[in-house]
Amino acid sequence: MSTFQAPKGTYDLTPPRSATFLAVREAISAPLRDSGYGYIETPGFENVELFARGVGESTDIVTKEMYTLTTKGGDQLALRPEGTASVLRAALEANLHKAGNLPVKLWYSGSYYRYERPQAGRYRHFSQVGAEAIGTEDPALDAELIILADQAYRSLGLRRFRILLNSLGDKECRPVYREALQTFLRDLDLDEETRRRIEINPLRVLDDKRADVQKQLTDAPKLRDYLCDACKAYHEEVRALLTAAGVAFEDDEKLVRGLDYYTRTTFEFVHDGLGSQSAVGGGGRYDGLSEMIGGPELPSVGWALGVDRTALALEAESVELDLPATTSVYAVPLGEEARRVLFGVVTELRRAGIAADFAFGGRGLKGAMKSANRSGARYTLVAGERDLAEGVVQLKDMESGEQSAVPLAEAAAELAKRLG
Ligand code: ATP
Ligand code: MG
Repeated sequence: MSTFQAPKGTYDLTPPRSATFLAVREAISAPLRDSGYGYIETPGFENVELFARGVGESTDIVTKEMYTLTTKGGDQLALRPEGTASVLRAALEANLHKAGNLPVKLWYSGSYYRYERPQAGRYRHFSQVGAEAIGTEDPALDAELIILADQAYRSLGLRRFRILLNSLGDKECRPVYREALQTFLRDLDLDEETRRRIEINPLRVLDDKRADVQKQLTDAPKLRDYLCDACKAYHEEVRALLTAAGVAFEDDEKLVRGLDYYTRTTFEFVHDGLGSQSAVGGGGRYDGLSEMIGGPELPSVGWALGVDRTALALEAESVELDLPATTSVYAVPLGEEARRVLFGVVTELRRAGIAADFAFGGRGLKGAMKSANRSGARYTLVAGERDLAEGVVQLKDMESGEQSAVPLAEAAAELAKRLG
């Protein structure tokens, strides 16, 4: 193993590709920020108990994928595998739900960790932008979140994604269905692990990717037939609001998602250019989660979108994001005095809000101009001894190639004018 290799299942983000990731985070969070969601940040690790209870003891995330550790002081911690449990924990700790302003709408962005088998689009360290709306049961809230994610993907220029939608029922109707499903599943020819899953989390069996299992599931009881009237009405309202907003979706009865805490609305965004790791984001309603982690009853809904897979989706659709050049002006000093003077101009430009960079290291004109080109700067400022003696700098427009002498004292103002 090379000394300079990132750990298995991880990768570094370096320029220029890293700019895409920043733009993706920005594009996903912009619609949230415009819709009353406040930014929240929580630690990268939590007590392991929070995820065991909040994500579910029977989920792959907790049983197989969680990075757990014991601190020197004996605390049992886990690197966060997802955001919802942490955000809810933090909201409860800060009593945000008691401020008399429900729903509490929050968004977050960060790193998540899962010990998975690394493959394209599946990493051990990945990043998500997520949103949670805590404390309100209202189909318009479920619809809002789906619409905002749709808006985010569209603003990035993505088109080949689909929205899968389902309802998982609530604490009235889900248990009845669960039992009917268990009775059906117990008669099937399944391996030991799957048989255990029938007893702990039978809905997850529906999610099994294996063809021989899927074949046996054809006649499984359908959750749709068990939904209570309240859940049915709620789901119809979510569907109607999405339709009215012009957001297309597909009803997907098999969509159960990996987490124990979902109730009613569940959804997933899949992209058709990503092969088997097709889910770019997902979420749903989790009315029981707060109580599961020891809080009051707080019906809530949220989603998390994967930044890594969204970046891959952009590549799959050959979307070129319109990323402005980071540097507008590049200064090339020739000689000691010019170095001092132009460094002063660069500082002045930066303070005026103009992105400027400088040829450091006292390189010659040729090498420095190469760097100026590479920086993407629209203008370069060049100055040598003779220019300074005349009180001017050479201002070159890198697009037209035109060059003119500008009085040193006016250089910054002239650039500000030209750059608008
Ligand atoms: P999958 O079915 O692909 O395992 P998931 O249901 O585990 O996804 P969620 O927990 O809903 O995923 O996380 C939301 C999003 O985060 C996913 O849609 C995906 O874009 C991203 N994501 C999840 N796990 C990974 C991972 N290991 N590597 C990269 N992105 C991931
Ligand atoms: Mg997963």
